[in-house]
Amino acid sequence: MSLPPQNVLEDVFGYPEFRGQQQSIIEATLAGRDSLVIMPTGGGKSLCYQIPAMLREGTGLVVSPLIALMQDQVMALRELGIEAEFLNSSQSPDERREVMSKLRQGRLQLLYVAPERLVTEHTRSLLRDIPLSVIAIDEAHCVSQWGHDFRSDYLGLGDLGRLFPGVPRMAVTATATDKTREEIVARLELNEPERYVAPFDRPNIAYAVQVKTDARGQLLKFLQTHRNEAGIVYCLSRKKTESIASWLCGQGFDALPYHAGLAAEVRTENQRRFLAEDGLVIVATIAFGMGIDKPDVRFVAHLDLPKSIESYYQETGRAGRDGEPADAWMVYGLQDVVRLRQMLDESQASDEYKRYEGFKLDALLGWCEVTGCRRRPLLAYFGDSQDEDCGNCDGCLTPAKTWDGAEAAQKLLSAVYRSGQRFGAAHLVDVLLGKETDKVLQHGHDQLSVFGIGKDLPATTWRSVARQLIVAGHLRADAARFGALVLTETSRGVLRGETPLLFRKDPTRPVMASRKSATARVVADEDQGLWEALRACRQTLANEHNVPAYVIFHDKTLQEMLAFRPQTASEMLGISGVGQTKLDRYGEQFLSVLRDEALSQEHRRGT
Ligand code: ADP
Ligand code: ZN
Repeated sequence: MSLPPQNVLEDVFGYPEFRGQQQSIIEATLAGRDSLVIMPTGGGKSLCYQIPAMLREGTGLVVSPLIALMQDQVMALRELGIEAEFLNSSQSPDERREVMSKLRQGRLQLLYVAPERLVTEHTRSLLRDIPLSVIAIDEAHCVSQWGHDFRSDYLGLGDLGRLFPGVPRMAVTATATDKTREEIVARLELNEPERYVAPFDRPNIAYAVQVKTDARGQLLKFLQTHRNEAGIVYCLSRKKTESIASWLCGQGFDALPYHAGLAAEVRTENQRRFLAEDGLVIVATIAFGMGIDKPDVRFVAHLDLPKSIESYYQETGRAGRDGEPADAWMVYGLQDVVRLRQMLDESQASDEYKRYEGFKLDALLGWCEVTGCRRRPLLAYFGDSQDEDCGNCDGCLTPAKTWDGAEAAQKLLSAVYRSGQRFGAAHLVDVLLGKETDKVLQHGHDQLSVFGIGKDLPATTWRSVARQLIVAGHLRADAARFGALVLTETSRGVLRGETPLLFRKDPTRPVMASRKSATARVVADEDQGLWEALRACRQTLANEHNVPAYVIFHDKTLQEMLAFRPQTASEMLGISGVGQTKLDRYGEQFLSVLRDEALSQEHRRGT
């Protein structure tokens, strides 16, 4: 092995230090071990396989499900002076032949391949002839049949270990609950993998959820804090993405729609513009986003409820990948829930799957209704518990009005217990309300001591109590028992009245602390001129090189230039995000902007 990973990080990527577990992951791979890497979006997963690919002999193979993602990564790698190519259906046969010939000549450090291509005998025999340094399987959760992104081609990746013995494999994903994690290891047949689970927290993202009252008005108010910034607005239907986009244009925003029903050219063009421009809003269905690597997305807004906490976290994770402040904002209404349930009922999926998805939707709804810090239960859902409130969510900044729910919780838990922990929320609510339904009579539940003890609250409140108890972990919906609610270890404390419980009240008057736009928060007034000059320089270079502005330098890198004002090439190398290749390509242009500024300052001081 020639160089230590640290040198590659500094010289090629221009970063002073590894983040989180990057270094151990890279070392395990260099030592030839398989690994499972779970990191939130923006955590820095790609470096974990890119650096071993550069340090081990042979070509690094990256399996990636999305063409847009491949193109983006390959473009960024080339800007760093790394030899990278992809093989996918967007290329002509001639283009593909050229890539293959480079591959055979050993000229590629990284090759990105779509899974459907990798399962073909043709590609496999090609790859068998060349040395591979590492095999990275990106978006590895796509192998999970329970997940929302299942791709059957991923099931064919299990035999890569046998086909390429001795090549370390790395499964990489941003979404995985315990169950999915083990499914990935099993189906990809990883060999005693090292497991790396990074903290899921994205502290720079501020979470806020409101009940939908006047969705457009609410959105407009929210967007006032994000003028001229890039962001994504998610809607459930295709039609709605178009109407919201054109309405936003009427309100003075640059907005474009994106959904699977648009012509391919329009889709490509809208996505290209979103990536390339600084302040565009894309209004999209969930068809948009997977594989969007844009680091400076300043907000993700949901006008409709996503279908699970997993989806929500993945979608909002597209904001603030550069680590700068960003907003995840959502409005939700009960109508959303009804519609999502309908879509689920009408789908062709198995009953078991529908039930499973139904619980996930309930968990999300419960999360919408939490009082207090929103981040803690969100992270707890992914098994990542935090001891302190975050101070960067609506729950922390503008606490909701609450009511003491201890007694209601006791009634509901008693109903669960007395009916034998075999029934779902709807039936239990009937029992509490004293309704003599067929089911109630059939099971003799009108004879229970809890029958009718909940008449003081309406059914909607009872359902909300059930959801909030599930989210707080005092009740569990058992998938294996048709959604029956069962008690948990902590239920006892609630039943005994030892656990204080506050439930959300009056969720229709949420307030959002008004904040300055993300950029305004970091650039001081007197620096505004230089900031704009640096951005203009970046845009010019981006146009010349035909790449998005952030591929030249991230905002964060420009901010460091603003703070440290490097005047020489070696000072410039000290800026995070400036490596040798980028210094050679762009250093001089930015230095000249910075020197001009220094000169005019002296001038101002002199006169
Ligand atoms: P992921 O694939 O996990 O979503 P990326 O690999 O795209 O995340 O990394 C997110 C951003 O963080 C990228 O712009 C990347 O260049 C940057 N990054 C990664 N590792 C580091 C590091 N050690 N120091 C600074 N920036 C980093
Ligand atoms: Zn909080």
